[in-house]
Amino acid sequence: MVLDDLGSSLRDTLDKLRGKSRLSEEDVEEIVKEIQRSLLSADVDVSLVMELSDSIKERALEEEPPAGTPARDFVLRIVYEELVGLIGESTELPLEEQTILLAGLQGSGKTTSAAKMAWWFSTKGLRPAVIQTDTFRPGAYDQAKEMASRAEVDFYGNPDNDDPVDIAREGLEETSEADVHIVDTAGRHALEDDLIDEIEEIEAVADPDTSLLVLDAAIGQGAKDQAKQFDESVGIDGVVITKLDGTAKGGGALTAVDQTDSSIAFLGTGEEVQDVERFEPDGFISRLLGMGDLGQLAERVERAMAQTDIEEDDWDPEDMLKGNFTLNDMQKQMEAMNNMGPLDQVMDMIPGFGGGIKDQLPDDAMDVTQDRMQTFSVVMDSMTDAEKEYPKAVGASQVERIARGSGTSEDDVRELLQQYKMMEKTIKQFQGMGSDQEMQRMMK
Ligand code: GDP
Repeated sequence: MVLDDLGSSLRDTLDKLRGKSRLSEEDVEEIVKEIQRSLLSADVDVSLVMELSDSIKERALEEEPPAGTPARDFVLRIVYEELVGLIGESTELPLEEQTILLAGLQGSGKTTSAAKMAWWFSTKGLRPAVIQTDTFRPGAYDQAKEMASRAEVDFYGNPDNDDPVDIAREGLEETSEADVHIVDTAGRHALEDDLIDEIEEIEAVADPDTSLLVLDAAIGQGAKDQAKQFDESVGIDGVVITKLDGTAKGGGALTAVDQTDSSIAFLGTGEEVQDVERFEPDGFISRLLGMGDLGQLAERVERAMAQTDIEEDDWDPEDMLKGNFTLNDMQKQMEAMNNMGPLDQVMDMIPGFGGGIKDQLPDDAMDVTQDRMQTFSVVMDSMTDAEKEYPKAVGASQVERIARGSGTSEDDVRELLQQYKMMEKTIKQFQGMGSDQEMQRMMK
């Protein structure tokens, strides 16, 4: 995650302020230095870093903290507000009919982002279409088509035509039933004049409401020049920062946003079409500072529940509270958990859980958990319905058969049964507390 380092180093520095009610000049110096160090190592432009740290310093020393506010909270608030100010508002994207043009260098993640954004708009009840005009990169057409089908959105491309401007024109006609048109363009390794000419022509045909520049989070200082050039040719309204799952940088992209006076529209956090977040500055910065992001968490839960194959009369979480807790219940729960995305991302969104507690876990603890869930899921696929309904009846010979059938070890199977027992016990305890509504609500 961008500036991940800022979150944890700043938390350490801020923790030293615990119990203090006033900030000394040295405290402020130390905090500002920490912020500078993290921002610079995340590739944020030097002048931007100076500007930001000056205003934090000035405010922390001059503003009077509201009575009774601990020094730590006071300065955290200032850092939060200044960072939100630096990043600015999210790019405006109304939930209505519109055309969006994507620009960027080859490999920045345009094609992936086009499908992701289309998917995101579809979850908002709109009908998006992806139009692929990249005739330059071999495989772009197939990749875009495949991703659009995974996102379950309309798609237009034409592998037999090598004129991207033509394709854009055809695409807009052919997908006229869609209400959000996302036009993906070709990238090159570097900005070449013909790329700029081409994208200007496509822009003239597509007449986009919004043009977004797609930037790889790891791009570093080069982002600045790229953003300027694209801004001069087609005008950049916003930026999509991709591959945030793979880097602790992203400062270059933030600098580009500042340079072009634009804003961030979306964040890409993985290779799947669902690995996208609409950028929300408050939540983003809160998460960065280890303050959680409940808005994003709620969205993920909702999304996960929708994706988990829960038929109304097939599985109801509330039944679990009333009757028998079976392995089928556990499997559904795990599926829903999986659909929320990588656990470490989810944990960052939980207030008080991101950073602080997460930092204390061994580095691979999250992966292990995710791997475990994967293994359990494979094991369960090899169990019969009867075994899942009555896991207690699973004996040694069945354990052996299930392990063989699922390609796992007998220990894996036993561990799953053990896990089930623990969960069942917990649920029984809840049930034992009575069926009063308050309790049920809490459990949900
Ligand atoms: P384009 O040339 O700009 O269209 O770039 P692509 O969409 O083909 O992306 C280039 C590579 O980056 C592909 O392998 C994508 O799977 C990968 N990619 C794109 N966005 C993300 C992201 O948010 N996270 C990760 N991990 N990979 C991404």
